[in-house]
Amino acid sequence: MMKWGGLGLLLITVLCACGSKKDLKQKPLIAATESKVDSLTQVIKESAKSVRESTTTLLVSADTLPNFPSIPVIKELTPEEKLMEQRRAGVNKNTDWANAIHYDNRKPNYVIIHHTSQNSTAQTVRTFQLAHTKVSSHYVIGRDGQVIQMLNDYDRAWHAGKSKWGTITDMNSVSLGIELDNNGREPFPETQINSLLVLLDTLKSKYLIPQLNFIGHADIAPTRKDDPNVNFPWKILAEKGFGVWYNEDFLPEPPTAFNPTDALKIIGYDMSNPEAAIRAFKRKFIRTEVNGVLTARDRAVLYDLYRKYY
Ligand SMILES: [Zn+2]
Repeated sequence: MMKWGGLGLLLITVLCACGSKKDLKQKPLIAATESKVDSLTQVIKESAKSVRESTTTLLVSADTLPNFPSIPVIKELTPEEKLMEQRRAGVNKNTDWANAIHYDNRKPNYVIIHHTSQNSTAQTVRTFQLAHTKVSSHYVIGRDGQVIQMLNDYDRAWHAGKSKWGTITDMNSVSLGIELDNNGREPFPETQINSLLVLLDTLKSKYLIPQLNFIGHADIAPTRKDDPNVNFPWKILAEKGFGVWYNEDFLPEPPTAFNPTDALKIIGYDMSNPEAAIRAFKRKFIRTEVNGVLTARDRAVLYDLYRKYY
């Protein structure tokens, strides 16, 4: 608690030192006193200051830029500095400020499963570390079952891209991304799925993620994505409590009033392109004839899922 409180103060201290303080209209109603700053905070503050001074370069005086906030132009921000900049933007300049003391990190509430479309775990790890790719995920799982974490669960990875599920249009902000090493066409080895199930179990209980919120990338971006591929064992996942599956032994006929488009929408699919959504649905649940047309059986599967879970 003290540590994060200290960091909050540190952020304000460091960011104000960047030259924007004079532009801030609001004043703290309750100012923290120096006596409340413990020695650990002081050490962190000083080391962060030296890092900032050694890595930032003032290229242009902000005063020479008309109508521009007086923020120093920084040649290359480290990921941590980018986060600090972003946190500063989270403080509304048109309001007064008074520190609340009860808070913690926002936590993930969805898990999005991907295949990498690459040839090895090493290649994927490299992809997520190259500056120009602008993609990342929290976890990568190898064909051999090795699990590599690449971002803290509380950080926002860039794995979902432009996507939508229900009314959520920023899936990266609410989800964890898990990439399975897979070339996009091949089956997923049992060892890899076993590692995934262990990881999902941990994440589900740690963050209380609802069963319905374990979904695939193609579900949330049906016009752009097809991962995980048709071989992914959604049924096995659903049996363990991650995602949904239907009753294969008995599929009741849907009532005549049943509207598949509405059902898909209620499940979460973006129906702005119905064919793409149906294709994503069929890739996941039907797994043969992955196209944009629902057969009578497909409709029965959809109805069973709808009445069972939604
Ligand atoms: Zn993906």
